[in-house]
Amino acid sequence: MSEKLQQYLDETKDLDALQLVEWGLSTFGKNKIALASSLGAEDQVLTQMILKVDSHARIFTLDTGRQFQENYDVMTASIEKYDFNYEVCFPEVEAVQNLMNRGGPNLFYNSIEDRKACCEVRKMAPLRKKLSTVDCWATGLRSQQSVTRTDTPSVEWDDNFGIFKINPLINWSENSVWDFIKENEIPYNKLHDKGFPSIGCQPCTRAVKEGEDVRGGRWWWETPEQKECGLHMKDGKLVRKSTD
Ligand code: SF4
Repeated sequence: MSEKLQQYLDETKDLDALQLVEWGLSTFGKNKIALASSLGAEDQVLTQMILKVDSHARIFTLDTGRQFQENYDVMTASIEKYDFNYEVCFPEVEAVQNLMNRGGPNLFYNSIEDRKACCEVRKMAPLRKKLSTVDCWATGLRSQQSVTRTDTPSVEWDDNFGIFKINPLINWSENSVWDFIKENEIPYNKLHDKGFPSIGCQPCTRAVKEGEDVRGGRWWWETPEQKECGLHMKDGKLVRKSTD
């Protein structure tokens, strides 16, 4: 572990979620930390928190071009409530054209390789580009969503992107998230009312039944160990069940 990471862990060990957001903004500077929002419940909580601390804090979202209408609805509601603008990250036009010209509009159903190629072009490349502009990113990761249930810290070094990562809601339960949303009248993605625990691309996400693993709704035609797109990985392993 680097000295810097140890220092950050010492500084943040007793902080609650809002305090950790404040710490992140003051430690890295508001232009060098950004919240990655998938427009799901946890990210809506963090949107409220980060904009409360700094109304010009950076929040970005990936528009893969295959989103649900409900995503745009919650974006619009959030912009109206908090009077800010998202940094929207689109994939490179030429890369999407090449993808579709090669495999057609629904190539992700053809094979794991084609699905990963689509995730690379529409999600991972734009994410890498955006994260190259910051020293730290904030995510709505919760330990209950962890595949391994290992101790994911609230501050960590993200080897995938070579920057720090903070997870202010890491110790929150799902109930805490929804209580906070209700108490603070935070706009939320209406897909959650329709059986979608996590928000992904429309053709690759479906509702889950009560009690079904949340990953059951993502890339349901693949086996569980194949379901990852690289957003939340650690030591080569998937960290989050609901990969954004
Ligand atoms: S989730 Fe599906 S549509 Fe979205 S980038 Fe990945 S393969 Fe493409």
